[in-house]
Amino acid sequence: MSLLELPHRGKEFIEILEESKALVKKLCGIGDEYEVLWLQGGGKMQFCMIPMNFLTDARTAGYIDSGHWAHEAVEYAHYYGNARILASSKESNYSHLPEWPNMQTDLAYLHVTTNNTIYGTQWHNIPKTEVPLIADMSSDIFSAKTDYSRFSVFYAAVQKNLGAAGLALVVIRKDMLHKSQVVLPAMMSYAMHAREKSVLNTANVFGVYVSLLMLRWIDARGIDAIEKENKRKAALLYDAIDSNGNFSANIKEKAHRSLMNVCFSANTPEVEQAFLALCEKNNITGVKGHRSVGGFRASLYNAVTFEQVEELVGVMNRM
Ligand code: PMP
Repeated sequence: MSLLELPHRGKEFIEILEESKALVKKLCGIGDEYEVLWLQGGGKMQFCMIPMNFLTDARTAGYIDSGHWAHEAVEYAHYYGNARILASSKESNYSHLPEWPNMQTDLAYLHVTTNNTIYGTQWHNIPKTEVPLIADMSSDIFSAKTDYSRFSVFYAAVQKNLGAAGLALVVIRKDMLHKSQVVLPAMMSYAMHAREKSVLNTANVFGVYVSLLMLRWIDARGIDAIEKENKRKAALLYDAIDSNGNFSANIKEKAHRSLMNVCFSANTPEVEQAFLALCEKNNITGVKGHRSVGGFRASLYNAVTFEQVEELVGVMNRM
């Protein structure tokens, strides 16, 4: 029987699930105090499930508005309760990270997006907070060493560093599961997904298997080596942008720059057109920036090699 035919409650798939969950815990340096779930609906489904499960009537949730997806997360939360933006850099079109806010300690949770995929900023150091911390790590999970135990919940749409679109990895500390609303339809309830061990309904067998292959690959390379390579790749590209008179980095504050998404602009429309044409000629695709920002974005996810970044820099230097 092929993988696509496997029953989701069969022994083979249960083994795939168990190995994947054990690898997530190993790579995150966390233990059985956390529950690992594979849920369908990608990242945005988590924008709904988090407030549905944790934002009860009397409480307020805090959100850090540091980019497009961070903003969308709080917009979804407004449907379910009191969600407040505690810090935002929207006014400057997210060209830097906002100041970390002082906050009241009785918040239901604080939601942060660790890497802002579209604008190219990243929180390299998240200050300590007494409030349960919930993080969207969709575009930087397993890209560098992180103290995952600081987060009550962290999640990632898997399509950047961890597999094929449509699936999300959700890791929840078990004390949060007890706070999870029980009056929800089962498909929306973390507690029910945990009780049913990620097979509440027909699981995305193929998607979880692809993510298992990614986890094995990450484990074999080691997070330390991955981080080192990601830093080399980003340094090469940012240095090339900063030293080339034809281009400018969108994020001026170096400490805020993302290692995963390098956003930059051409200094004239002529350079922009010529650079896009040269990229196409050299088989470099996907460098056009998101439509809300314009310019260019080079996404340096784990699968991108140093040599590929060198090729891109070579094309820039020929301009
Ligand atoms: N959060 C972040 C940080 C993202 O980059 C994305 C997608 N690019 C999402 C959430 C949404 O994920 P999905 O499209 O899987 O719903």
